[in-house]
Amino acid sequence: MGYPIQLVGLEGKRVLLAGGGPVAAEKIVPLIHAGAHVHLVTPDVSAEMEEWLPKVWRFDRREVTDDDVPGAKVVVGATDDGDVNARLVAVAREHGILAQAADDKPNCDFYSPAVVRRGPVVMTISTDGGSPMLAGQLRRALEAAVPRSLTDVAELLVQLRERGMKGLANRGRMLRALFDPTITRLVDTGDTDAAADRLMELFDEDEEPFEPGTVAIVGAGPGSRHLLTLRALDRLQRADVILHDALVEEEVLRLALPATEIVDVGRRSRAMEPKAEPADAERIPLMIEHARAGKRVVRLHGGDPFVFGRGGEEVDALAEAGIVWEVVPGVSSVIASGASAGVPLTQRDVAKGFTVRTGHDTAGPTRGELPPDEETVVVLMGLGAARDVLAGLVAEGRSPDTPALAVSGASRPGERVVVGTLATLADRIQEAELPAPATLMIGEVARRALNEQDRNRAAAKRGPRATVVAV
Ligand code: SAH
Repeated sequence: MGYPIQLVGLEGKRVLLAGGGPVAAEKIVPLIHAGAHVHLVTPDVSAEMEEWLPKVWRFDRREVTDDDVPGAKVVVGATDDGDVNARLVAVAREHGILAQAADDKPNCDFYSPAVVRRGPVVMTISTDGGSPMLAGQLRRALEAAVPRSLTDVAELLVQLRERGMKGLANRGRMLRALFDPTITRLVDTGDTDAAADRLMELFDEDEEPFEPGTVAIVGAGPGSRHLLTLRALDRLQRADVILHDALVEEEVLRLALPATEIVDVGRRSRAMEPKAEPADAERIPLMIEHARAGKRVVRLHGGDPFVFGRGGEEVDALAEAGIVWEVVPGVSSVIASGASAGVPLTQRDVAKGFTVRTGHDTAGPTRGELPPDEETVVVLMGLGAARDVLAGLVAEGRSPDTPALAVSGASRPGERVVVGTLATLADRIQEAELPAPATLMIGEVARRALNEQDRNRAAAKRGPRATVVAV
């Protein structure tokens, strides 16, 4: 059993290389990379060797002689004449010099590996001296398979190690951080210093919780992966299983890591006619089953889970089953369609609000006015005038007992939700000194927030940021 030469201590040392053919060209690679002063002696130079000539320390275009040997640190005989190679080795050994004759196992004190380099990453291939050609083939295969950009990533990793980031407890987190868009962009621009800085920062930032056995109900946005939120991407890439709607595009699903189980729980067809959908009765137990099996479950909805997405039913079932859940909002088609059409949903002095309604419900197509108690009203910029706004909704015919709530700083660190009814919410907002920006939501759906039991569940079981519910 032989070993590839450990390319240590060749830096600046003369290495005699005899031969100019493809075999010699393979031999020169590790020597040049080791920083050796390659003394090339050959009457003929092949195309393969030609490209290395600028890196050669000294080139003598002639036959090699015994006199070339003394004083060399290492001697490599790679001419096409086996006898010449063997003789060089014999002379070298007399002088106590390590030597190697190409394709001549007994005359090898070491083997020269084929080398693929990507910055600090060095991949060496050895066939135990058996077949330099095979090693060369493998080298070319590796050259093609390992991307050049690995050089920059590898340099980044070396930097991180130098800064003390070793033995990472969480390699998954490391890999995710490496593929953080900021990092990849900085690496692409060759700014590994900035990339290392940002990576260290990412590690110092607390990761949002997504524990095994919990469910993230995630909005995938309207289609394009570019409209996914960073939080949605994070959950997608940490999920053990993704249960997705038919509306979720393939390009979004492809962002999941290879080991992730991906299950289509949507309608089997996107045909126009409303098809028999897999009932919540099938979909929800599947979700619960996966969570109970200790998996991180992502339930992925098109658009936003809480806009005609049945997210409400799912949350109820999870709370009932005692499973921790969170909702990650998505860009709803409500919003995305306006953007695609270049049409604002509101415009000063033109449209003071907009209505979103389903065209089709369990009772069939929706027509005409919606009964006030079947419609959720969302009011933006209504905190200051909350008292008037809420009274106005009662004047329009809604019951003063209609549930209503105000969300302040949604998704921000200090987010708060204040609940009440059309009759009481204004007082509650005042008592709570709820800060702007805030949004009001009025309608039967707000009842779940009014319900004491739900509120307790919400506080105990919510995901990344527990909402403070003041009453
Ligand atoms: N939760 C989704 C809506 C689900 S209902 C959301 O927030 O967007 C399904 C309906 O959404 C479709 O019938 C269609 O009216 C609308 N929709 C979904 N994706 C859309 C898209 N990319 N463009 C236009 N409408 C879309």
